[in-house]
Amino acid sequence: MDFDALIRDIPDFPSEGIVFKDITPLLDDPEGFGAAIDALAAPYEGQVDRVVGIEARGFILAAPIALRLGAGFVPMRKAGKLPAATIGQSYDLEYGTATIEMHADALADGDRVLVVDDVLATGGTAEAAVELVGRAGATVAGLSFLIELDFLEGRTKLAGHDITTLLHY
Ligand code: 5GP
Repeated sequence: MDFDALIRDIPDFPSEGIVFKDITPLLDDPEGFGAAIDALAAPYEGQVDRVVGIEARGFILAAPIALRLGAGFVPMRKAGKLPAATIGQSYDLEYGTATIEMHADALADGDRVLVVDDVLATGGTAEAAVELVGRAGATVAGLSFLIELDFLEGRTKLAGHDITTLLHY
């Protein structure tokens, strides 16, 4: 499957000089979307109890991956969005910081967890997600991304973890 043909470059989004990788053409192609979900889930067949999806595009991928693996889906969201008691983790952005949260009771002790997002860029978001999973007493079985922006070297923040990526730029 030529996943690259289903990813669109959007220059100067969200700010000047950034070339944003737009995954909506892939989502609009049932064959491509299905093949991507299969490829991201396959390495973790029988190996995870829960799949954590990172808001917002991570949700779109993590939910079908969870169903495919017979695992629970757990949303990790921007601060203030989840209704029950949460645990949160802050991380650095280029300017300022951001916080992601998860329900405090979403993971059980010893759960094997797959973390899913659409893009691995600087790795700050994924690193915070790994930290939160660990603080909940669970184990990160791996991380899956549709796209990895190699030049940002995000995987250096995820040393020691199993990473699956379908496309490298
Ligand atoms: P990081 O924390 O690794 O720098 O950034 C990763 C987060 O930013 C992911 O949640 C991802 O959705 C978003 N992101 C950064 N760059 C892009 C991009 O070019 N395309 C898309 N679709 N998302 C991006």
